[in-house]
Amino acid sequence: MDSSQAALEALMDGRWAAIRDQARRDLPLDLFEPADDLTTDQHRHRVREHMRWLAAGGLTGLGFPKEVGGAGDVGGSIVSTEMLGYGDLSVMVKAGVQWGLFGGAVNALGTQGHHAAYLPQIISGELLGCFAMTETGHGSDVAALRTTATYDVDAAEFVIATPDDQARKDYIGGAACDARMAVVFAQLITAAGPHGVHALLVPLRDEAGNPLPGIRIEECGRKAGLNGVDNGRIWFDAVRVPREALLDRFGQVASDGSYTSSIENPSRRFFTMLGTLVRGRISVAGAVGSATQAALTLAIRYADERRQFSRPGSADEVVLLDYATHQRRLLPALATTYALHFAQEELVESLQEHAEAEELDEVAQRELETRAAGLKAIATWHATSTIQTCREACGGHGYLSSSRLPQLKSDTDVFTTFEGDNTVLLQLVAKGLLTGYRNDFGALDTLGTVRFVADQVVSSIVERTAARTLLQRIVDAAPRRAEESDLLDRGWQCAAFQDRERHIVEGLARRLRKAGKADGDAFAAFNAAQPHLLAAARAHVASELLEAFVAAIDRCADPVAAQLLGSVCDLYALSSIEADSAWFVEHGRLTAARAKAVHKAVDGLCATLRPQARQLVDGFGIPDSWLSSTLVR
Ligand SMILES: Cc1cc2nc3c(=O)[nH]c(=O)nc-3n(C[C@H](O)[C@H](O)[C@H](O)COP(=O)(O)OP(=O)(O)OC[C@H]3O[C@@H](n4cnc5c(N)ncnc54)[C@H](O)[C@@H]3O)c2cc1C
Repeated sequence: MDSSQAALEALMDGRWAAIRDQARRDLPLDLFEPADDLTTDQHRHRVREHMRWLAAGGLTGLGFPKEVGGAGDVGGSIVSTEMLGYGDLSVMVKAGVQWGLFGGAVNALGTQGHHAAYLPQIISGELLGCFAMTETGHGSDVAALRTTATYDVDAAEFVIATPDDQARKDYIGGAACDARMAVVFAQLITAAGPHGVHALLVPLRDEAGNPLPGIRIEECGRKAGLNGVDNGRIWFDAVRVPREALLDRFGQVASDGSYTSSIENPSRRFFTMLGTLVRGRISVAGAVGSATQAALTLAIRYADERRQFSRPGSADEVVLLDYATHQRRLLPALATTYALHFAQEELVESLQEHAEAEELDEVAQRELETRAAGLKAIATWHATSTIQTCREACGGHGYLSSSRLPQLKSDTDVFTTFEGDNTVLLQLVAKGLLTGYRNDFGALDTLGTVRFVADQVVSSIVERTAARTLLQRIVDAAPRRAEESDLLDRGWQCAAFQDRERHIVEGLARRLRKAGKADGDAFAAFNAAQPHLLAAARAHVASELLEAFVAAIDRCADPVAAQLLGSVCDLYALSSIEADSAWFVEHGRLTAARAKAVHKAVDGLCATLRPQARQLVDGFGIPDSWLSSTLVR
């Protein structure tokens, strides 16, 4: 490997390179073998074996506090999950449920007693658990969950109940077979009344694996993908748990039934609680990035070998990747995948900083949560469309199970829905932008946002939104006359992204401000503005990706690698502008002639990068033995 390739790979590996290397060295190769010919039972069995292997290897403690045998390396734990994303995604999801969601909830929502009693067994895999939030009737709207946890003063116990079938827990990973305990999200009720959704630890099964009295569990059945994960439904029939089962970091019930919380406002308390669970979302964004990288590696390596049709006047057949359309289909997706990878690395760094902070900073937490929501949504949608493109780019071969692409497609599909539905998440992002992360973030269907925005000065919202220093620095240094500057000028690109974001957010803020001041139906106005909210969120995330890419190039010490990344970044920026060229032209940001020039520049960049396409997928650092596909054998 030459030094610039090594520099590229080192940059991609980032701060947690040692964890990535360890995974490359140690992960068992059968983790990468296809699973689509396995029965549900066989697949689940194989996943269980991998879970045991992971627990025995000690990596499962990475994200937990040192006091309970963990390593306090939250970023490392996310990267370690990201590495599992190159293999069987059922393992990544099942591990994510056990150590990310179940263990993560005990850690984030519980207090010292819970940590000492449960985390060591969770880390070692002796106690398998699940995360029971979603109900059949309510998925995205968590505040409306209907399972109840009612405090019985005389017995000093909570009584957990499922009022009807709409309130049964649904889709719960690990519930169908393996989980012995659940973190159950339920409406907490004391004699004084309801206190909103809280989480409690509820045992589900005995040592022999049988459901405990009052617990009914059913299989969800065969799914489109991820069939190595045992998703199930749970009903609670007046199940009693001790008072200590309440994960009580944010809300406590004393033995006399009195309720206390350090966060008085119930809505703020609820969103703060949910916000501490952000790690799951970040893991999903990272792991789906790995799956996308694997698909692109397969498709680009295949396209670099496969020939179809002769060149006129020559006996030589043309290599697929020499076709302009093939480059167009794969290389902009490759560029976006790089951008997402750098943004993910930054997000993980922020999470680590946040975890190391002495005190909980609510605004910083909401900002982190918003970034995670935006990146998760964009990364999972990008995965879905890119993996489909890769499948088509490999023709019939890509449709065979042995290519691995069908499984990547079916396994990643639901990533757009779990850990937060993407459309709902992007609304959350837009709301965070409008409110500066300050109000009771997340209550999407209330009039709160409209009222809040009505009291704000639009320019201050826009200033707050666009306060990213690196992008601003580059924009400030850019030539004044945008129409004349080179399309490959980074300053122009950054200004175009920033301008789009500002304009959309400004328009949205004005619209909601007007609605908030009028006497009309504020919900209808907010509802009508939903597409506008999504456009604002998308523009915002696109700016974040560009900024992360620029920062990564700045960090790259090798000039050859930096130049290559510069072209990849150009391709990301210009293909993003091209995809949204209708907006740029409609808003007078691009003339028709300049929009055409953008198309031409994207064509040119695809041709320029074609010879380096293989080098760029190698930059993902996926060992050949992990690709496990007939496309590259
Ligand atoms: C394989 C799998 C594993 C899962 N694992 C778990 C688990 O372990 N634990 C757990 O608790 N949950 C789990 N879930 C549940 C998952 O988190 C939910 O499915 C998800 O939150 C979406 O909820 P929902 O299915 O009720 O969809 P809904 O919320 O009903 O959404 C349906 C559609 O309506 C749209 N929509 C909803 N609200 C709005 C709105 N305000 N504005 C505009 N559009 C809207 C959404 O975009 C979506 O397209 C899992 C789900 C699956 C499929």
